[in-house]
Amino acid sequence: MNVLIAGAGIAGLTLALELHQAGIECRVLEAVPRLEPIGAGINLLPHAMQVLDGLGAAEELERVGIETKESVFFSRYGQLVYREPAGRFAGYEHPQVSIHRGDAQLTLLRLVRDRLGADAVKLGRRVIGVAEDGDGVRVAVLDEAGQESEERATVLVGCDGVHSAVRAQFYPDEGDPLYSGVTMWRGVTPWRPFLSGASMVRAGWLASGKMVVYPVRDDIDGAGTQLVNWVAEVERPRPGRRDWNRSGRLEDFIDVFEDWHFDWLDVPALIRGAEKVLEYPMVDQDPLPRWTFGHATLLGDAAHPMVPRGSNGAGQAVLDARALRRALESTRDPQAALHRYEEERRPATAAVVETNRRNPPDTILKEVYERTGDRPFRRIEDVISQEEMAAISDSYKRVAAYDKDMLRRQG
Ligand SMILES: Cc1cc2nc3c(=O)[nH]c(=O)nc-3n(C[C@H](O)[C@H](O)[C@H](O)COP(=O)(O)OP(=O)(O)OC[C@H]3O[C@@H](n4cnc5c(N)ncnc54)[C@H](O)[C@@H]3O)c2cc1C
Repeated sequence: MNVLIAGAGIAGLTLALELHQAGIECRVLEAVPRLEPIGAGINLLPHAMQVLDGLGAAEELERVGIETKESVFFSRYGQLVYREPAGRFAGYEHPQVSIHRGDAQLTLLRLVRDRLGADAVKLGRRVIGVAEDGDGVRVAVLDEAGQESEERATVLVGCDGVHSAVRAQFYPDEGDPLYSGVTMWRGVTPWRPFLSGASMVRAGWLASGKMVVYPVRDDIDGAGTQLVNWVAEVERPRPGRRDWNRSGRLEDFIDVFEDWHFDWLDVPALIRGAEKVLEYPMVDQDPLPRWTFGHATLLGDAAHPMVPRGSNGAGQAVLDARALRRALESTRDPQAALHRYEEERRPATAAVVETNRRNPPDTILKEVYERTGDRPFRRIEDVISQEEMAAISDSYKRVAAYDKDMLRRQG
């Protein structure tokens, strides 16, 4: 059996490490000619770190990123709403790691090349189509020069992200990802440590502007400065172009945050300090009725793009990779394995997609926004109880499969 993986994002690279560890031959084709640390931050929650630890990747990711100590919610006036410890600080066996997406990708890429060989990941090779071919697939590939070629494999796994070509072939009439009504402007800024120095902050609510802020690289200058990731999320009637590398303009959103001067963070200064601002519409897709077609399947964002409101995009991709490896190593019938993988992961990820839409952890901030009429509160206890906020947070952890007891039981 040999597996062809389309896409060298977190999903594709984790899958390559999983399959290699299981002794299953695989190779990765990546569309872009160079992988560079563009983009902004992501979070790897304890369930994903547990899997990555099993692959011998956790230590390196932890070293490159920041071990998150706490998750903290504020109003848009900088008033503390809710605080809970994260990862090991909350008693998990594994940490939560906040990391630049590019750092995570390049770390995994290096591990894949070290273990599978320098040629295991081929860049500048875009998968454009797949056809069944007896007991495997033929995969059409376009190189940088526009030359088309064909590769054969037992299994193709489309790990090619939210704009997946593999998914588009199976669902030609699906249409564009669905706009949530929120646009995100993202950036990274050199900044001194704020709060615990490892705090993940969510502040405000989408209707009048929401910020997500956390550090992703420590001590970038030998003087303790961190690289701090920020995402400004604002309701906008129409989406911009869907391109992860699209530049954004300060004047399109800075007015929303102009008076966010807190004693723990000067938000407009943080935003202005970024070298580059990226703009991306917050999108997802309805869960699919089926991922597997013959000897091809989908994994990660290609299978279940979700709005990034639960820090779970990368984590669910990592869980998919583990599940697919387990399925493939447990049978000699690749098609049966793909179906088993899909049976396990499709309903689980559909629940996360739905919950990210309706009831993610930042529902805490929605409740505060609605109950206060978006005005400052005197005491948070008069608005919402600690128990109610903890219940919102805990119920998300169960849906997204990183409830502490669930993880402990899995071992
Ligand atoms: C450049 C970029 C920046 C991002 N920035 C953020 C961010 O700031 N915050 C956030 O929450 N999420 C971000 N994401 C999404 C986040 O990485 C994913 O939600 C999550 O990590 C799951 O990853 P994935 O591997 O399934 O998909 P992705 O991370 O999207 O990776 C897909 C990979 O497949 C490649 N690819 C695409 N089409 C083809 C094809 N036809 N053939 C071969 N290869 C193909 C892409 O170049 C990419 O490397 C970003 C994604 C990208 C690609």
